[in-house]
Amino acid sequence: MKCRDILIKGKAKSVYTTDTKTKLIIEFRDDITAFDGGKKDVLKKKGRYNAEVSAFFFEYLEKNGVKTHFLTMIDPHHMVVRKLEMIPLEVIVRNIAAGSIVRNYPFEEGELLDPPLIVIDYKDDARHDPMLNDEIILALKIVTPAELKKIKKVARDVNRLLSALLSAQGITLVDFKIEFGRKGKTICLGDEISMDSMRLWDKKTGESLDKDVYRFDKGDVMAIYDKVAKRITKPVKKK
Ligand code: 5GP
Repeated sequence: MKCRDILIKGKAKSVYTTDTKTKLIIEFRDDITAFDGGKKDVLKKKGRYNAEVSAFFFEYLEKNGVKTHFLTMIDPHHMVVRKLEMIPLEVIVRNIAAGSIVRNYPFEEGELLDPPLIVIDYKDDARHDPMLNDEIILALKIVTPAELKKIKKVARDVNRLLSALLSAQGITLVDFKIEFGRKGKTICLGDEISMDSMRLWDKKTGESLDKDVYRFDKGDVMAIYDKVAKRITKPVKKK
C-alpha cells in the first residue's frame, strides 16, 4: 500500500489517502513540538519510536477487546489505519496529578487520583484546546450522550489495560491523551498512543520517560525514547 494525497499535516504526523477508500496511512515524522508549538525540533528516529509503541499498544488493546483504527505497519514510520470520522475531543485520563491539572487546580504534583480523573479538551489549536464539560460537549453536539458514555468507558478500559502492562515493566502510567473516531456507528480509538501523548514515570527512580524530558530539558530525549520503546515492546521476562 502507498501514500496518495496528503489529507492533513499535523505537528508531528501526516495523514495520507491510499488507493483504498476505507484506509489511510499515518506518517510518524521526526518532528517534536511542545507548548502549543512554541518549542520545536526535528529529532532523528523520533517518529519510529512513537510509531512502534503506538502499534504495540493498539495491537494489545485490540486483543483485549478495544476497537482501534490500527491495521498494520508498512515500514517503521508508516502505519495503515481504518479511516474514521474523527471526533474533535482530547480525552485525558489522569492517575496521578501532573502537568496542567497541577498548574490550574490545587492538586499536589504526584498526588494519587483515585478514581482516575477523566478530563476532556476541545481539540482546536486556534482556541488552545480548552477544557470542556459534559454539558458543553452535548450542547455543541460533538457526540451523543450514548457516545460520550461509551468514550468514557473505553478511556477507563484503556487506562486499566495500559496501567497493568506498563506496571509489569516498572513504569507508572501517570496520565495520557487519546482520541476517538466513528467507523459507521462504532466508536474506535484513533490517533496515537506514544511517549508524546503519555506521562510515564520510572517506578523506582521517578524519572520521566516521556515528552516531559523534551518539554523541560530533563536529558537526552531520544536516548530515553529508545530505552522506553524497547522496555515497552520487548520486555525482558523476570525469572
Ligand atoms: P497536560 O494537560 O497535563 O498538559 O497533559 C495531560 C496528558 O495528555 C499528558 O500525557 C500529555 O502528553 C497529553 N496531552 C495533552 N494534550 C495533548 C496534545 O495536544 N497532544 C498530545 N500528543 N498529547 C497531549
